[in-house]
Amino acid sequence: MESSKLKYAPPSISTSPIEVPAKILMGPGPSTPHPRVLQAGAAPLLGHMHPEFFRIMDDTQAWLRYGFQTSNTATLAVSGTGHAAMEMAVANTVEPGDQVIVGVNGIWGERMTDIAARFGAKVIPMETKPGTVFSYEDVKAALEKNPGTKIVFVVHGESSTGTLQPLAGLGKLCHEQGALLFVDTVCTLGGVPLNVDADELDIVYSGSQKCLGAPPGASPLTLSDKATAKLAARKTKVQSYYFDLNEVGPYWGVGGAARKYHHTGMVSNVYQLREALAMLAEEGLEAAWARHQQMADRLYEGLKQLGLELFVEDPAARLPTVTTIKVPKGVNWADVPAFLMKKYKLEIAGGLGPTAGQVWRVGIMGFNAQPRNIELLLVALKDALTHVGFLKD
Ligand code: PMP
Repeated sequence: MESSKLKYAPPSISTSPIEVPAKILMGPGPSTPHPRVLQAGAAPLLGHMHPEFFRIMDDTQAWLRYGFQTSNTATLAVSGTGHAAMEMAVANTVEPGDQVIVGVNGIWGERMTDIAARFGAKVIPMETKPGTVFSYEDVKAALEKNPGTKIVFVVHGESSTGTLQPLAGLGKLCHEQGALLFVDTVCTLGGVPLNVDADELDIVYSGSQKCLGAPPGASPLTLSDKATAKLAARKTKVQSYYFDLNEVGPYWGVGGAARKYHHTGMVSNVYQLREALAMLAEEGLEAAWARHQQMADRLYEGLKQLGLELFVEDPAARLPTVTTIKVPKGVNWADVPAFLMKKYKLEIAGGLGPTAGQVWRVGIMGFNAQPRNIELLLVALKDALTHVGFLKD
């Protein structure tokens, strides 16, 4: 055989079909998808401009509106993970020089201060202790102290600390002060009551790999008419071509626009998001919200029996989909997730940002929000806590 003239030989690694261990993903995401969702990803690939794919995009959009409880025409799935939706939301609605109040009570608010500043915003951080949330009065005071604010950002489900931000009244308050309300719902869409229109939320993004239970890659985004009017009134071009809603919108048929190629849509990811949303519609949004809350309540009860404490003290501020558990004194936090993974192929995570080293984070999202997962986790956790010496045999 003639020897190859290529500069680089193929790497000497196995070319056998990939082998992937089946793990139970109960960290803060991704969550284990339902087999029906995974199977949808293996459906034949369509072209991104094929009419059959447009139908699938239309259905996805319709179900996203249902999930968000909105009639917003500007509703679509952004190509990319939650961060992509976050950046697309900012790129379109923040103009250089805009004053933006960013609620910071964990890593996601912190990250938003960075992203908004990169797009030229004058960022005003509004802070509260990690593990706590903002009251209506906190937001009102921040708006009154900072006249001329264009946007207020809060995180509905702060996955780094485990808090659930109450949204009631905030949209109306922002509107009375001439500002838009911008909300991260990555850990709440499909798992926690969320009513975009009724609560007057303007700029809302999410992720596919959390409560919806699809793989990461196609991230929901919806903009109110007030938010799209701000986009239309921009004096400067959206700084990102890829994320410019004026360019991407027609590809998704936003506002009845003629379909136009913008970028190659993530076809298989959209199939999977479509399937996850179809399953959510079959179950019903309210039933899904109730299921997540019931599973969280069962988890809290089981954790208490194990002698563990929750990081979020106020029960009303606890995020049912991601629970933060205090690492007891004398326990090395990393030993427990390592034991659970080794023995049970079960993932939980440590803290992130302000909670690093202090908590374990357990996700109960989507397909994992069911009794068998909670009971397995509690049994496995008891085993792990005995292994590390916190519980006696
Ligand atoms: N916001 C929140 C609340 C999140 O939990 C995450 C993901 N952990 C993100 C945003 C970013 O999403 P992604 O990792 O999919 O880019």
